Amino acid sequence: MEQPSPGALPTVHTTVSEFRFKEYERLSLTLSLIITCLGPLLTFVQDLLLNPHLAGLSLRIGLCSMGILGLYPLALGLALSRRLIQAIAILSPSIVVCMDLLLRADQPGDVTRSIVLLLYLIAYARILALPFGLPVTISSIAMLLLIPLALMVSGLLPGLSAVRILIPLIPMALMMFLLELLLTRNLHETHRQRKQLEDMAIQDPLTGLNNRRYFVLSASEHLRIAARSGRPLCILMVDLDHFKRINDTFGHATGDQVIRLTSDVLRHELRASDVLARFGGEEFIACLPDTEQAAAMVAAERIRSNLEKSALQGPQGADSILRVTASIGIAAAGAGTDTLEMLIERADRALYESKRGGRNRVTCAA
Ligand code: GH3
Ligand code: MG
Ligand code: MG
Repeated sequence: MEQPSPGALPTVHTTVSEFRFKEYERLSLTLSLIITCLGPLLTFVQDLLLNPHLAGLSLRIGLCSMGILGLYPLALGLALSRRLIQAIAILSPSIVVCMDLLLRADQPGDVTRSIVLLLYLIAYARILALPFGLPVTISSIAMLLLIPLALMVSGLLPGLSAVRILIPLIPMALMMFLLELLLTRNLHETHRQRKQLEDMAIQDPLTGLNNRRYFVLSASEHLRIAARSGRPLCILMVDLDHFKRINDTFGHATGDQVIRLTSDVLRHELRASDVLARFGGEEFIACLPDTEQAAAMVAAERIRSNLEKSALQGPQGADSILRVTASIGIAAAGAGTDTLEMLIERADRALYESKRGGRNRVTCAA
């Protein structure tokens, strides 16, 4: 049996929020970079057209800004840690905006400068919204509308009427909103499809339990940990007794119902930290980490007796109560020497002993 590396596991464990964070982070940081690059460019073009004597200064500010912002792709290229990249992405717009304000302190305020300032602040809002999971559009637009008012009230934008600031901001807000809408819709769709594919790859469609492929991946990892830490681990194999008869007597659909009932009992009786899977047709397997053989036997006995007690109504009505039993085999990992294949084989042999012994019983491998 294959023993894939644990490296294949993380995609399976990725949660929706982790995914959202990573994707939003990547998109938002990239957009922030574009936005903060646009600022100096806008200022330079405006100066070139309207105040040619300031164009040299704008160009220098622009080049410095690009240099500082270059830290971000450089950090990405060097594969620095996510926190460091985030810090650079947050700090670079602030350095650029401080430089812009300092170098232009003696110049009169104008619309482009206020727009540039706002672009920086939007870039900020986008980045800062991420860790809190806020919708980026809402924080961006709120910043877009609230910041100019705050700047005017504090006297940082002298000589500008609210109308002159708000008129260019409205198409900008609309643009941002549409962009975000497009991006997030795309993201959600991609995420939905990825999740569906992931589920299909690891889940058994009839019971919703893990499939054999996932079991092998996950149990191998648990076994490796158990071998390293010297902690116990047990493998439990469950096979329904005379299941063929149920199919033959009541039909395949009822057989499916019995398989689902069994999966419910197993799910209910095992811990959430155990790895449970449908191993084949009417065969189930569980990996019980941190569990001694005696405790695994107690769990197996609970499963056996609960399954025996559960009753399903047959398709013929009240008089056709259907009962099901299972045979169980247990194998405990020994002193870090067993491979998963060996353990499964031993559990299977123990299961066969249960069958031979009359079924509806639990056997531990020697
Ligand atoms: P034993 O007590 O020795 O295990 O006998 P059994 O009849 O349970 O074992 P056997 O292997 O002879 O039969 C298993 C049956 O399970 C045969 C197969 O048609 C049926 N089966 C396998 N997968 C499914 C499924 O998804 N749904 C249904 N309804 N039946 C299935
Ligand atoms: Mg069977
Ligand atoms: Mg079988």
